[in-house]
Amino acid sequence: MREIQMVDLKAQYEKIGTEIDNAIKSVLQSTAFIKGPDVKQFEEEMQAYMEVKHVISCANGTDALHIAMMVLGLNPGDEVITTDFTFVATAETAALSGLKIVFVDPDPGTFNISVEAVRKAITRKTRLIVPVHLFGQCADMESILDLAGKHNLYVIEDAAQATGAEYYFKNGTAKKAGTIGNIGTTSFFPSKNLGCFGDGGALYTNDDEYARKLRSIANHGMKIRYSYSDIGVNSRLDTIQAAILRVKLKYLNRFNDARKRVADIYDEAFSGCQEIITPERVSYSSHIFHQYTIRNKNGKRDELKSFLESKKIPSMIYYPGPLHLQEAYRNPGYKEDHFPVTSSLCKEVLSLPMHPEMEKEQLDFIILNVLNFFETLQ
Ligand SMILES: *Cc1c(COP(=O)(O)O)cnc(C)c1O
Repeated sequence: MREIQMVDLKAQYEKIGTEIDNAIKSVLQSTAFIKGPDVKQFEEEMQAYMEVKHVISCANGTDALHIAMMVLGLNPGDEVITTDFTFVATAETAALSGLKIVFVDPDPGTFNISVEAVRKAITRKTRLIVPVHLFGQCADMESILDLAGKHNLYVIEDAAQATGAEYYFKNGTAKKAGTIGNIGTTSFFPSKNLGCFGDGGALYTNDDEYARKLRSIANHGMKIRYSYSDIGVNSRLDTIQAAILRVKLKYLNRFNDARKRVADIYDEAFSGCQEIITPERVSYSSHIFHQYTIRNKNGKRDELKSFLESKKIPSMIYYPGPLHLQEAYRNPGYKEDHFPVTSSLCKEVLSLPMHPEMEKEQLDFIILNVLNFFETLQ
């Protein structure tokens, strides 16, 4: 059996390597490393895939969030509501934008931002909500849009973990994660569902004026060459990465389906185990399983992790600590257990190996060992 990885980028490269090599080689031969033709072509192909009017590529997913916040014309001290249980990028970019971060708890079943918690956190100073579609499933966007509409707030969706996930509206229509709020952002970090071979990111919007400004800010605020209409940043997607992404975009649906099949097998295998809570699936979103994250209810999560490690099965804790307790984001008003859902999730969650290249034998071995761990405890 092949060694089990959280994400097996090598196995993926073995499958599509020739196509990738050819794509890279053609960029090398063209020497159009910055803003080469593949960048525009990738953006157009991504627009078609995402069914969104504008895709603006940039250097990484964190920059995408930062650039999105820069175009909204927010003022220092304006409040942004986001989840306490996620990757640091949301808080980081809000802080860099001079905004006041208002953390809220997630929903314990879906791990996504709790709409009820958002509702309670809205004040006269709130200007922006940043839901994160965590682990590959959409946050409750229709309720979030309702709140945003009522209180005149912007919505930036962080779709870094949900490229290809679909949100289903009550009226029967569907939209891709990231194309629902005012602006959406994503990351092409290698381990993401759509990942390149380095750093990369993109912004989505259906608004022409935002699109113009996002594109300008991502490229030094430049309107025409050496004429600057906005204060910008240098955040572009390399042509080589765009060429790789063009190859991988063709496989994205197949890869996401393969992840779903792995998740279905995990779900089924763990359904009889009292100590494990499998990830909740909601009716308003598809799930593309960027992570398959279980909750361990017997207080022995760390022991399970070590046990799996002893069998050469990797697992990861996303996320080990609430953002509001990180040194950089502490606020004297916050207590240790200020966000009880986040606090308990940080102690219970464990993400199991999840990738499209998972072999049946590997999956069986992981399941057998997880179940063995709980059986030997009894
Ligand atoms: C990966 C990730 C980001 C950041 O993307 P980078 O490309 O690494 O900057 C932002 N938000 C979430 C939820 C992510 O998972």
